[in-house]
Amino acid sequence: MEDLVGHHCGLFGIYNAPDAAAKTFLGLFALQHRGQESAGVVVSDGKKIRSKKGMGLVTEVFHERDLAEMPGHMAIGHVRYSTTGSSRLTNVQPLVIDYSHGLIAVAHNGNLVNARTLRDEYEAYGSIFQTSTDSEVIVHLLARPEHSGRKEGIGHCLKLIKGAYSFLFMTRDRLVAARDPQGFRPLVIGRIVTPGQLGTIGEGYVIASETCALDQVGARFDREIEPGEIVTIDADGVRSSKFAKPEEIKPAHCMFEHVYFARPDSRIFGDSVHDVRIALGERLAVEHPAKADVVFSVPDSGNVAAIGFSRKSGITLDTGFIRNHYVGRSFIKPAQIERETVVDMKFNVVRSVVEGKRCVVVEDSLVRGTTFRKQARILRQAGAKEIHLRISCPPIRNPCYYGIDFPDRVQLIANNKSVEEIRDFLGVDSLGFLSVEGLLSAVTQPTKNYCNACWTGKYPVAPVDSMDKYGMESV
Ligand code: SF4
Repeated sequence: MEDLVGHHCGLFGIYNAPDAAAKTFLGLFALQHRGQESAGVVVSDGKKIRSKKGMGLVTEVFHERDLAEMPGHMAIGHVRYSTTGSSRLTNVQPLVIDYSHGLIAVAHNGNLVNARTLRDEYEAYGSIFQTSTDSEVIVHLLARPEHSGRKEGIGHCLKLIKGAYSFLFMTRDRLVAARDPQGFRPLVIGRIVTPGQLGTIGEGYVIASETCALDQVGARFDREIEPGEIVTIDADGVRSSKFAKPEEIKPAHCMFEHVYFARPDSRIFGDSVHDVRIALGERLAVEHPAKADVVFSVPDSGNVAAIGFSRKSGITLDTGFIRNHYVGRSFIKPAQIERETVVDMKFNVVRSVVEGKRCVVVEDSLVRGTTFRKQARILRQAGAKEIHLRISCPPIRNPCYYGIDFPDRVQLIANNKSVEEIRDFLGVDSLGFLSVEGLLSAVTQPTKNYCNACWTGKYPVAPVDSMDKYGMESV
């Protein structure tokens, strides 16, 4: 990823494991790529709910003593990104709220497209919101007497919200997972062998945004939570139901998860992320061939597509950029000046790989273009003879309303310039973006099951709130 400013999140939940807080710490650690600004864990021992949340990486927020002080057999956790204005502790999830049925913890990944409208409505009736996140809306829905008394409970409230949401809820004795009817964000369930609690020795359940978190805690992948499904886990076992009507369930899985966000060792939406990225790179080599001496990626997110490009084109794969792994992803810095400073700190060029060479550089996406422009300059300074930039997704021209916070439309380079103008701006010899058809050829579900609105402008769920800025934070 070149220079995205993002909101994104990772979820992890576990049921029936005696070391639930420690396992959740490990699960969140595996999901760190989905959110590096804050982390939180809420744990229950069946009687008492305890939580710890903080700003920073998972390893910065939690220390050994914290986990030792969080006994319990069930837990949920959350890692989060956000923009600077919302960098405050009250927004850190899971949110823990005392409502008419007791304490409930909520963790959310996605973005609700009618949150502002619902919030305005409830504030007009006197509700007081504690955070600036869209996620809090679900809590106010649950708390309302006309909803809280219903047998379908959470499922009933989910019918009132629109947009992208993978949710984890936890009460003292129950874990609930739900996914929106489009299944925008990934959410999987797995099983774990555990000494157990509550007389169900031998099997625990794990729910996570990506399968890499299941691997991290030694859980076995069972299946994806389906779009429109709600799964409840408690002492009576696991129960599943659909809260959405069959005609409302229209999968629109986020293709950008495959292009950039998810970890290559995860399986999402039925496909290996690694295999999809290989296929994207191979297709890119067919659509935009180049006469070159070497192929390399902008690490790390372009790595796998570069392998695919090299395999298909027969051009030698090498390492042209070295990334300093002690610097966070460039887009976590909101101010332009800081972001550019971080780019300098983050990448260096291997001169012997690029000097006097015709270079194909594979990048997963291009947002503003300012970061790659700088990278092209340092490649030239290191003696690159030609630079052929290949992007493993189409030009991003539209905002995302479902949880990825691209910059404003005006800042998206592909929205303002033609491909030739972008090439000129970047200072490269040639530029090729993958086509939408090429993008969708890399995945196995029918193409109608994927969201590609940031490339095509075809939004699967129309935003109810103002299209430009919600004035609320998504996760
Ligand atoms: S608009 Fe783009 S980033 Fe947003 S959900 Fe759709 S594919 Fe993903």
